[in-house]
Order: sequence, then C-alpha cells, then structure tokens
Amino acid sequence: MEMAQNGFDGRPGLTDTLGRALRDLRISVTDRCNFRCTYCMPKEIFGRDYEFLPRDQVLTFEEICRLARLFVGLGVEKLRITGGEPLVRRGLADLIAMLAAIRRPDGGEVDLTLTTNGSALRALARPLAEAGLRRVTVSLDSLDDEVFGAMNGIEFPVAKVLDGIAAATEAGLAPIKANMVVRRGINESSVVPMAAWAREANVVLRFIEYMDVGHSNGWRLDEVVPADELIETIGAVWPVEPADPNYRGEVADRWRYRDGGGEFGVISSVTQPFCRDCTRARISAEGKLYTCLFAVDGHDARAVLRSGASDEELAAFVQGIWTRRGDRYSELRSAATSTLPKVEMFAMGG
Ligand code: SAM
Ligand code: SF4
Ligand code: SF4
Repeated sequence: MEMAQNGFDGRPGLTDTLGRALRDLRISVTDRCNFRCTYCMPKEIFGRDYEFLPRDQVLTFEEICRLARLFVGLGVEKLRITGGEPLVRRGLADLIAMLAAIRRPDGGEVDLTLTTNGSALRALARPLAEAGLRRVTVSLDSLDDEVFGAMNGIEFPVAKVLDGIAAATEAGLAPIKANMVVRRGINESSVVPMAAWAREANVVLRFIEYMDVGHSNGWRLDEVVPADELIETIGAVWPVEPADPNYRGEVADRWRYRDGGGEFGVISSVTQPFCRDCTRARISAEGKLYTCLFAVDGHDARAVLRSGASDEELAAFVQGIWTRRGDRYSELRSAATSTLPKVEMFAMGG
C-alpha cells in the first residue's frame, strides 16, 4: 500500500487536504443507551417508541475488527470505543480482546480506550481490563443527585457512577478520565465540587463545552460556558497554569494545579475550535465512516465490507475519503451552519 506522505507530526500516514494525518479512530459499537442525557438523547424525542438500529444493520465484531486493523495499517494509533453506551453491547469484552491483539505496522501497541457513562463498570471493568482495555473515560456531569439525575434523564444516581469509577481503578484502568459537559444554568454550580472531587480521587477531569451536535437537544450558544470562564472559576479556588499538550492533535487543553494537585482539561470545541489539529475519523454502529462530528453524510463502509471487497479495496475506499477530507465545521460555525442538517451524536459515536 502506498503511503508516501507524512502527517504534521512527521510520522508516516495518510494526510487530508489540510495536512492532517489519520491517527484516531472512534468506533461506535451501538446506538443504544440506558441514559437519556438532555444534551444528547432527550427522552421526549428518544422515548419508548424510538427505533434503534436492528441487529443485522450493526457491524459485527469481525467487521469492526477488520476495519480497525485496516485503519491501524493506515496510521491510526488510537482506538476509542464509544456509542451510544458501549457497555450495553453484549460480549464487549470479546471485541476488546480482538482489538487488543492488533499491532501497528512498527509492531507497537495501539492505544485502546473506551468512553462510557459508567453505569455498568462495576460489573464490566475487570473483564474489560483482562481482555486488554488500557483506560476508560467516564462521563459525569455533577456530584449532585438532583442535577445529575435531571441531566441523565433517568435519575441515575451519582453513587453508582462513582462506584463504577472505583471498580475501574481497582481493575487497573487508571488514570481515569472524567468528562463533564457544562451547561449554563444547569450544572455550572457543579464545576468546583467536581474539580475538588477529581483532585482527591486522582481523576483527570475534562470540562467539555456544550456542543451543537445533532438537532434534538435544542442547543443555544448562550448555554455554552466558555472554557476561559471555566479556567477562571477553577483558578479562583486553586491557582492553575497551562501544561504542554501530550501530543499535537490532543483534544483537551491541559491545565495544571500549581499546588501539585494534578491536572484538568478543557475541550473548547465551540469557543476555540481545534479543527486544524483534528486527526479523528468515526465509524458509526451501522458502519458509516464520518470524517467530522458535524458531517452530514457518512460513507458506507458496511456496504463495502459486505460486498466481498478485498483488504486492498477497503483500504483504497478509506484512503480516497481521507485524502479528500477538508472538514473544519467548528472553525466555520456561524448562524448559518447551525441550521445545516446533522447526525445525532449517539448515532455517529461521540
Ligand atoms: N455513552 C457514553 C458516554 O456518555 O460517555 C459514550 C458516548 S457519548 C455520545 C460521548 C461523550 O459525548 C460523552 O462524554 C458525552 O458527555 C458527550 N456529549 C454528548 N452530547 C454532547 C453535546 N451536545 N456537547 C458536548 N458533549 C456531548
Ligand atoms: Fe447515552 Fe452517552 Fe448520550 Fe448520555 S451522552 S445519552 S450516556 S450516549
Ligand atoms: Fe474535527 Fe469536525 Fe470537530 Fe473540527 S468540527 S474538530 S474537523 S470533528
């Protein structure tokens, strides 16, 4: 396979029209979820009658693995399992074991991780770790049951997520990252308590600006709490300083507590877009390949997989898509873009 180009990181791999390498693949293993977070899958819209994908339309573990192997061959270094809620996919540990066996062309290991709402981690953290999972990111928007219950849409208790995080730590999946979506007027008051908890629990907390993904959450700009404001809020309690990124293309800006209390991150996709460093592709549960979280049309990888295509044909399909890519939605976000058609985040794989 021909891969003459180098990404902006200087390493070999496919590059797009803006010179961005293909380094991360997010794989959605299901569009289903046991939560109904107001900003993702509000229950008024995704209630009892919502039709999720029928099983035969969802990629099999073998199909997911074949795609992952191929992407790694094209330069991907990090695989993130997501959804919907990935832990509701039956037999997930078997898939993790298959993915953990994939090696990079230089023989190196692939960074294999997973994003979850944490509700099933008490039962699954150990089997997943034993299957080869390295780390997890757990989403948690507040430590206050009333606030969290309203945001997750099913009154799921905070204590159970904290217990899931403890289980993940015990299983060796540390350092745990926690994602907190901050929404003005809803969970702003949880920012400092969450930071205090994360400092104590040795968790790397990442604040995420509320994004205009999908159409069903009724997103409004005035509900976004800008990252700068979050840093100021935290900094007023514990002095902070910026830390260098771990690598170019890292989604979160890192901040360090000056008293040695660890670090936190801010993901400022709305106020400080980072499209120029975006090295991510996404595969939805039904096998659509998206090159941007805000892309409207996915490319049907499942059809190619099920057409009996060879590995070379499949690789050519992915290469053709990535080398033509010019996405930078967040940098172009404006009043006009907010009305464009979009795919829901749980369907694409957040
Ligand atoms: N169900 C898993 C979870 O919640 O961690 C994985 C899928 S979820 C779509 C992935 C991440 O996207 C979560 O951290 C969630 O908080 C975040 N997310 C969902 N909708 C969002 C939105 N409108 N703005 C910002 N982040 C969002
Ligand atoms: Fe489910 Fe995650 Fe979306 Fe919440 S953010 S509804 S947990 S997929
Ligand atoms: Fe990447 Fe698209 Fe997000 Fe920009 S808007 S950072 S291109 S996913």
